[in-house]
Amino acid sequence: MAKTSYAIALGSNRRHGRHGSPAGAVEAAIRALDETKLDLVARSSIYRTAALGPAGRSFANAVAIVATRLEPPKLLARLKWIEREFGRRRGRRWGPRVLDLDIILWSGGTWPRYPRFAPPDGLRVPHRELARRRFVLQPLAEIAPDWRDPLSGRSVHQL
Ligand code: ATP
Ligand code: CA
Ligand code: CA
Repeated sequence: MAKTSYAIALGSNRRHGRHGSPAGAVEAAIRALDETKLDLVARSSIYRTAALGPAGRSFANAVAIVATRLEPPKLLARLKWIEREFGRRRGRRWGPRVLDLDIILWSGGTWPRYPRFAPPDGLRVPHRELARRRFVLQPLAEIAPDWRDPLSGRSVHQL
């Protein structure tokens, strides 16, 4: 496959043994995105988002753009491998985690190609919650404001 680009959202709300604060973990994860099969093309600054509940820590969030020949399922497998390397364990959705890497947008369009026939819980690109998440849209607007969501036709800036 020819190279395509992806927007990847990074998030952390737990200290990492070696990289320290959530912001330190996100910073290190951005560096990890520049590896053999991935070229880091752009990155946002790191944003801090207050935790929702009283018990949670605040989040560090960022967005990176990578170019690669990998198709979405292969890229997701690499991202999950990086999450594990950072010490993420299987566990509760929404629970505290050292690192979360989500595929947000793909220059190749949607995955699967025909989203109407997609199984409900598989990989979906654009990310299902894209339009509702300021902590993703804000860093993304910093580096790719004109990228269009293929489903709504709206640009990141508009969203
Ligand atoms: P959310 O997806 O609402 O941000 P989460 O990131 O906390 O929730 P996870 O537990 O990290 O959820 O992932 C649950 C599953 O979501 C993953 O195993 C993955 O297969 C699936 N998934 C579907 N679409 C995507 C996507 N665009 N990027 C990453 N994972 C996705
Ligand atoms: Ca997520
Ligand atoms: Ca995730």
